[in-house]
Amino acid sequence: MILGCGRCVFMTNHGFQALSGLQTIAARESLLLAPYAMRSIDSRGRRYPEPEHPYRGPFQRDRDRIVHSSTYRRLSGKMQVFTGDMGDYHRTRLTHTYEVASIARTIGRALRLNEDLVEALALFHDIGHPPFGHAGEDALNECLADKGGFSHNQYAMTIAEYLEVRYQSFPGLNLSWEVLESQASRVDKQAAGLAPLLEAQVVEAADSITYDAHDTDDSVKLGLVTMDELAELPLVRDSLARVHERFGGLHDKLLRKAVVHELIDWQVSDVLETVGAALTPLGFGGAEEARRTAFRIGPSEELAEQKAELESFLFDRVYRHSQLIDVRSRAQARLRSMFNGYCRKPALLPARFRDRAESVGIARAVGDYLAGMTDRYCEQQYLRHFSP
Ligand code: MG
Repeated sequence: MILGCGRCVFMTNHGFQALSGLQTIAARESLLLAPYAMRSIDSRGRRYPEPEHPYRGPFQRDRDRIVHSSTYRRLSGKMQVFTGDMGDYHRTRLTHTYEVASIARTIGRALRLNEDLVEALALFHDIGHPPFGHAGEDALNECLADKGGFSHNQYAMTIAEYLEVRYQSFPGLNLSWEVLESQASRVDKQAAGLAPLLEAQVVEAADSITYDAHDTDDSVKLGLVTMDELAELPLVRDSLARVHERFGGLHDKLLRKAVVHELIDWQVSDVLETVGAALTPLGFGGAEEARRTAFRIGPSEELAEQKAELESFLFDRVYRHSQLIDVRSRAQARLRSMFNGYCRKPALLPARFRDRAESVGIARAVGDYLAGMTDRYCEQQYLRHFSP
């Protein structure tokens, strides 16, 4: 492909042809994507129309807008499950996000879906997480209970549509309709009256594969559970057996890593086999057609059961571990007192959140401000303004 003057020269079967940026992307996608994939050329566009980019398709631009946003960068300072004081090995919200993107792209490519859209959705999927993970979310939800509550999925929409300031001519990131609609389906699964796009379903499946594997890894590494305890669960027991068969005896550290690798590989292969076997005979002619049926991308029934057992073990033994319960209670108490404090003294808010309070009310503006903070910044602001 040769670029120049906003036009691309694209090699086709009939030789070189001058094509616009979107036509170039369309030609590439028509060679690579399955009929049921979302095509860039079929995108419903953006709320604020923008000219085509000479060599990036709409979903590539979405991905880039997300990666260059300040909210995305702040994910590096937000906990996934374990806090920064617990060490440097475990996942942050950012590294979780990138692992999801990597697994989602693998699945998306194997199914010949739109990998650019898959990547944009994966990088966006957790962008609305407040500080201190689900503990922070629960506290904000309680604080905003009589104003419609707080959910990280809904907050991601607010970030994308209003809070990110990057462009002169419109608020937010002006993402493609398909990215916003897929995120809206995370807020309310019934919102569209249709299943999410297959690309969004891939990200959902990849998210679950990713946290099941990395929470297993992190919790063993942090000594909250042992591999022997985890081996009681069929999913881990079978992974261990395959690792032993392939490598024989491994010492603890390598064993943990090999099991995590196996957990990912096994789950991804299961999804691809389950979905691949079902997709071909269905013969969907387009992305919209695939959404109007009962077909869903996900694990086999057997794996879904095994994952549920692992998740309930992780919930009881890790997410509700006394070390994490302490972190959770302290973070929630601080967020509640910060919420009340900022509502009482709006002068402490940055100017743009004081302005925002005029359109959405002080409670929501405070919630939006708090939710954007990293764990560390939240602690700093608490100690600065509200520490007794
Ligand atoms: Mg996630």
